[in-house]
Amino acid sequence: MVRPWVKEYYGLKLKELIERGEIWEIKRLMSPAGPRAVVDGREVVVLASNNYLNLANDPRLKQAAVEAMEKYGWGPGAVWAIAGYHEILDALHRKIAEFKRTEAALVFPTGFAVNAGTIPAIVEQGDVILSDELNHGSIIDGIRLSRAEKVIYKHCDPSDLEDKLRQVHGKYKKILIVTDGVFSMDGDIAPLREIAKLAREYNAMLYVDDAHGEGVLGEGRGSPAHLGVEEEVDFHVGTFSKALGSSGGMIGSDHEVIEYIRNRARSWLLSTGFPPAVAAANLKALEIVMSDEGRERIRRLWENREYFKKGLEGIGFNTGKSQTPIVPVIIGDTKKTRELARSLFDEGVFVVPIVYPMVARGTERIRNQVNAGHTRDDLDKALAAYEKHGRRLGIV
Ligand SMILES: *Cc1c(COP(=O)(O)O)cnc(C)c1O
Repeated sequence: MVRPWVKEYYGLKLKELIERGEIWEIKRLMSPAGPRAVVDGREVVVLASNNYLNLANDPRLKQAAVEAMEKYGWGPGAVWAIAGYHEILDALHRKIAEFKRTEAALVFPTGFAVNAGTIPAIVEQGDVILSDELNHGSIIDGIRLSRAEKVIYKHCDPSDLEDKLRQVHGKYKKILIVTDGVFSMDGDIAPLREIAKLAREYNAMLYVDDAHGEGVLGEGRGSPAHLGVEEEVDFHVGTFSKALGSSGGMIGSDHEVIEYIRNRARSWLLSTGFPPAVAAANLKALEIVMSDEGRERIRRLWENREYFKKGLEGIGFNTGKSQTPIVPVIIGDTKKTRELARSLFDEGVFVVPIVYPMVARGTERIRNQVNAGHTRDDLDKALAAYEKHGRRLGIV
């Protein structure tokens, strides 16, 4: 039993959230996460998953995990830093370094943990961080945990970044520019060429979190490869939880940098990592993404994305600034957004309504994420449902 005032207090806070429509209703998956899945008891086309390359239920990932589980057991036993990690992590680190084209790499329990631990580890009091206003929440938390000064620049706006760089130049020991490679709400790509140029001019460190770009852009290597600036990124951050279909965070950099982070990032030092079987699946996922087959999956992903985005625009929907398989339908009204998402689900199409405070008021939207495994039938079914209910609700 909790104290009565505690129950009452959080009951009231919860009620406020419910009244503001800021509550997540959690769906129940009853099948593997795929382009189609059984959700809350019905078979649906899934447009709500980060599983871009359809690897989450890949038999080879499962097989690799089973073999590693037989060899190493299930649990990791303790925090990697204290009790050591299974040898398979060495192979995984080498593979990540090959993938990110860096000297060295390090895995973290999650992508969130990379940012929450690394940012406070690499900057200190007397440093300044310049951060895109739409950066992922884990970056924002990592910045808050650091002792560095924080300056926010306008979303994907190199000229505002330059203004801010001018303002801070010479006043701090180090400057760190942090950006998502691909932004998860709009599906737009950070202007990394311009950002990298500014980083060079102002001798700033560049940190790119490419969670939604890996496996999608630059032949799978991500947004820095796509824009030809891999060499200019000091901290290459990513996750296995999206296109790679698994779980766990990663960072690539030079040996000294990685070794330093390994010894200073508290989310690495004080939090137990994923089981060795997950490491084996992650290794397999990277092998697939870096192979010819991976390129073929990426080609299908983009083909599907073009088809679906054109289809939505043909109906009259506003897909905003999308440049990637994240294709939002901007509605600009919380109630209509929720209602459209509900109606789509009733038609067998699973999408996520994204409303304030996740996005600014007036830009409420449904976020669609296309998958390499979607068939034309899947996409046509989704488009037909969008057209029917978009018209019914007066959105198009
Ligand atoms: C999803 C995401 C993360 C978190 O990754 P997890 O592995 O799910 O913890 C971090 N950064 C960005 C930019 C993301 O999109």
